[in-house]
Amino acid sequence: MNVGYYAMCIFCKIVDGEIPSRKAYEDDTILAFYDINPQAPVHILVIPKEHIESVDEINSSNSACVAHIFEVIPKIAASAGLSNGYRVISNCKDDACQTVRHLHFHILGGTRMSEKMV
Ligand code: 5GP
Ligand code: ZN
Repeated sequence: MNVGYYAMCIFCKIVDGEIPSRKAYEDDTILAFYDINPQAPVHILVIPKEHIESVDEINSSNSACVAHIFEVIPKIAASAGLSNGYRVISNCKDDACQTVRHLHFHILGGTRMSEKMV
């Protein structure tokens, strides 16, 4: 079982393989997979394997995986063909409508998006 596994969390279950996903990238500490309900032609989620609830829970003890995620995002985007740009979003808690309480970064692309973000 993955370190930091949280039994009620669907993204921990995806990390553990209990719930299947279409993977875009994986290494020891992070996983990227295609969103089940895409909101753009390319919609990939990037998560730490460790259960961190949201951006609010990033701290000096767990931020290395977040830095790693942002180092890898350009490679994932390039592999997905997003040569014309993309958007990275993380919804944090209620006002942002975070539905899965396991930190994740949406990579959205493959179309010209709105200038508005809310
Ligand atoms: P949030 O609203 O928390 O920022 O984003 C959660 C995202 O997870 C949503 O875009 C939703 O479609 C996606 N999602 C929820 N459950 C699953 C699942 O079981 N598999 C995959 N691949 N994506 C999921
Ligand atoms: Zn989790």
